[in-house]
Amino acid sequence: MVRCDDLIGVLSPQFRAVLVERVFTECGVVHIVPRTLGGTASCPDCEFPSSHVHSCYERRLDDSPVSDQPVVIALSVRRLYCDNSLCGRRAFVEQVAGLTFRYGGRTPVSRRVLAVVAVALAGQAGPVW
Ligand SMILES: [Zn+2]
Repeated sequence: MVRCDDLIGVLSPQFRAVLVERVFTECGVVHIVPRTLGGTASCPDCEFPSSHVHSCYERRLDDSPVSDQPVVIALSVRRLYCDNSLCGRRAFVEQVAGLTFRYGGRTPVSRRVLAVVAVALAGQAGPVW
């Protein structure tokens, strides 16, 4: 017997850093619903670690397709306070290595695939996914 988390972790190692709560398909789209594991995250400006939670919210990320099915990730992330009194940043959103980057609506894998397609097509219309 293989747990869903184990299978996803093998197929997509970037999910090892989160807890996958749910996976389902709807209208031909694979939805993955993970959340971060808690603990500390570092402020992007001063790198001071923090676990002081400001709030939580859901980030929607487009991922690369699986078996020709588009994938959407609904990742629950925390917004944390930076408790370093010398830092100008008051709060920041935790990032998940291999899954998110600041202001990104796609996973790094999806972004790389899109970049390759854009370069290959050199400005011509791309495929619809
Ligand atoms: Zn800071």
